[in-house]
Amino acid sequence: MFTHKQLLYRRILLKISGEVLQGVNKFGIDIHALKRIAKEIKSIVDIGIQVSLVIGSGNLFRGTHLSTLGLNRVVSDHIGILSTVINSLAMRDMINSISSINTCLMSAIPLNGICEIYNYERAIHLLSNNFVLIFAAGIGNPFFTTDSAACVRAIETKSDIVFKGTKVDGVYSKDPKKYTDAVLYKELTYKDVLKKELKVMDLSAFVLARDHHLPIVVFNIKKPGSLYRIITNNNNYEGTMIRG
Ligand code: UDP
Repeated sequence: MFTHKQLLYRRILLKISGEVLQGVNKFGIDIHALKRIAKEIKSIVDIGIQVSLVIGSGNLFRGTHLSTLGLNRVVSDHIGILSTVINSLAMRDMINSISSINTCLMSAIPLNGICEIYNYERAIHLLSNNFVLIFAAGIGNPFFTTDSAACVRAIETKSDIVFKGTKVDGVYSKDPKKYTDAVLYKELTYKDVLKKELKVMDLSAFVLARDHHLPIVVFNIKKPGSLYRIITNNNNYEGTMIRG
């Protein structure tokens, strides 16, 4: 068991790309992937980390994609926003079914009878009492992504860091699928990312993180145990750490 002094972070926000939840499928929620991620979350709650989650919806619908198919962009984003609620409901239910951890699902838009509306004071209060919070519906507006929601909510709830759990190992110098000489960075500054035009997250979210000195770790959440290892092993990060 870790003491609070030994832990690098007290409160973290974990952003999970929707695609991680689809497992080997092309669409939807794979129950095994969902369960595995819920267990990963439990493993860090068990050592005393306060955790909030923002889940994307690339496994269901993304606004940008739907609009290329001919739907109005605002409506497309509304569909994306509602899809994040679907993923969040599934994740909350899975965490509840595999653990006795208290959870709370807060949405940026009112969804009476389904979940609470986001309230930052209540969020901080619940996090302090070791609830796992799930922030759904992004920031509630079209033309944003869940990366923005992750950074906004992390800053609001005074989280120490954002962990961006993806299906890639971190930030590369170039696309590793196309270039065999692509280098995986261990550590970058905000300046490096902007200068080299590296893809970490959407730009408005990234600039917000920079302006508020919010560190970001991009890592492969598909690797079993990766979240726990990064959080407990301070010198040898998997993934890429970005900070000032
Ligand atoms: N979205 C939005 N506003 C927000 C957050 C999300 O409009 O504040 C919509 C947008 O259409 C986006 C979709 O929800 O494409 C899913 O989010 P995201 O693309 O970030 O999911 P991820 O790529 O992380 O799975």
